[in-house]
Amino acid sequence: MKNNNIRKIVIVGGGTAGWMAAAALSRVLKSRFCDIELVESESIGTVGVGEATIPQIQVFNHMLGLDEDEFVRETCGTFKLGIQFVDWGRKGDSYIHAFGEVGKDMEGIPFYHYWLKEHLRGGSQEIGEYTLTALAAQQARFMRSIDAGNSPLSNITYAFHFDAVLYARYLRSYAEKRGVQRIEGKVIDTLLDDDSGFIRSLRLNDGRTIDGDLFIDCSGFRGLLIEKALGVGYDDWRHWLPCDSAWAVPCEGDDAPLPYTRSTAHSAGWQWRIPLQHRIGNGHVFSSRFMDESAAQSILLNNLDGKPLAEPKLLRFTTGKRKQFWHKNCIALGLASGFMEPLESTSIHLVQSAIARLLSLFPDRNFAREDIDEYNRQTHFEMDRIRDFLILHYRATERDDSEFWNYCRTMDIPDSLGQKIDQFRASGRIVRANSELFNELSWMEVMLGQGIVPHSYHPLVDAMAEEQFAGRMREIQSVMQNSVAAMPSHREFIRRHCAIDC
Ligand SMILES: Cc1cc2nc3c(=O)[nH]c(=O)nc-3n(C[C@H](O)[C@H](O)[C@H](O)COP(=O)(O)OP(=O)(O)OC[C@H]3O[C@@H](n4cnc5c(N)ncnc54)[C@H](O)[C@@H]3O)c2cc1C
Repeated sequence: MKNNNIRKIVIVGGGTAGWMAAAALSRVLKSRFCDIELVESESIGTVGVGEATIPQIQVFNHMLGLDEDEFVRETCGTFKLGIQFVDWGRKGDSYIHAFGEVGKDMEGIPFYHYWLKEHLRGGSQEIGEYTLTALAAQQARFMRSIDAGNSPLSNITYAFHFDAVLYARYLRSYAEKRGVQRIEGKVIDTLLDDDSGFIRSLRLNDGRTIDGDLFIDCSGFRGLLIEKALGVGYDDWRHWLPCDSAWAVPCEGDDAPLPYTRSTAHSAGWQWRIPLQHRIGNGHVFSSRFMDESAAQSILLNNLDGKPLAEPKLLRFTTGKRKQFWHKNCIALGLASGFMEPLESTSIHLVQSAIARLLSLFPDRNFAREDIDEYNRQTHFEMDRIRDFLILHYRATERDDSEFWNYCRTMDIPDSLGQKIDQFRASGRIVRANSELFNELSWMEVMLGQGIVPHSYHPLVDAMAEEQFAGRMREIQSVMQNSVAAMPSHREFIRRHCAIDC
């Protein structure tokens, strides 16, 4: 039988997406399977933001076989236990979307239904009082899981903050060691096959031509191959996710970085605060329909914790997704595939899951139509569900202090989100498909945090006798508090394991 395997993969773009793809493909395919080339242009550069992640990145690191301490050190990283949302539901409110377990499930029923019972009877404890990662975040403590039996310390869920530029550099060195060829140059033309419409080669500004079998478009917002050459089209989601701009600026931090991202709502958007070892990353994401650039920049600069370390950088984007992510012999990853906005730090994860999907549906040179369709179907599903989760933050608000919030509070939302909200309000249940990125607990934390309080809880909670119920709630809370007290500070943990001197 004729070998129809892919002989050469060409990646366009050397930002986070390009180097993640190069690293993962070089690890899995090994240099004997096919050649991998990555073209990037220093004169164009990368977006250079994208510094907060979600816990699934550990799967990616594991797949690459990275040493976690080295990874954190090389990227000046810190640990992340969740995101604190300030002023979102109402001005003055604050809640944490914390990673990992909430309380302890009992009799097969999620713990939060027990908490709801207590809450609906007037209990004053926040759900975060029963959540190890939320308590640890509040107290700026951190450690990795240890082997401690039933203790919550056996199961600590976390992600990372890192310097985006250093992350790409780190992955580049990893990929180059495994045979990936980097080509410095600017792609100025994409040559298509007349009959099939497949990409045959790329032309660079110095006259070189690069051919390949499979092309991975990691060229950022411009979507050089997927859009400029193949014209797949774009679904614009600005009516649901109205922020379309961001000012980003790093500032000085202190030597005790917080183990969580902070997102503070402003009058036409929100501000991120991402603590790294050597600085704090900040950005003001805003809607240009409701605020002009200079007002947005002033808000950012007036709300920094330290001296700015660079000139603020303005980024423009259109929230949405490509109509197709894989078309012909081209797959778009990262910003080239779409961008929803950074509110729940999902973009780097989307790169990771797209790479996993590509590996599981890896083509040969026949490029089976069915595999391409399946890839697109799964990617649409994943992005649509994340979109709903993000819209929830904007829609479920009581804020009426600006035109922006009035718009968000009253805008139409996708039916899929409306159903989730209605069901939670009615019975405290979250109904979701297993392959959705955000789990039941994430939905619950954000719904409650944004002020959606269910009318009721799971009826089987009442099967537990009253005295036992009160005792178990107290016990769980005290186990959480004692466990957190046993954790070192985040600063101390970093000092012991992965401190840098940059
Ligand atoms: C404001 C903002 C905040 C964000 N925050 C987060 C976050 O906290 N967490 C998260 O997960 N994600 C975040 N993201 C998303 C994250 O930054 C991106 O997903 C990630 O950086 C991947 O970017 P990229 O590699 O797709 O594109 P880019 O970084 O733009 O890289 C594009 C690459 O293509 C190359 N290129 C372009 N045109 C050509 C050409 N003609 N010839 C040769 N090379 C070319 C460029 O040189 C560059 O190397 C954020 C994004 C924005 C805009």
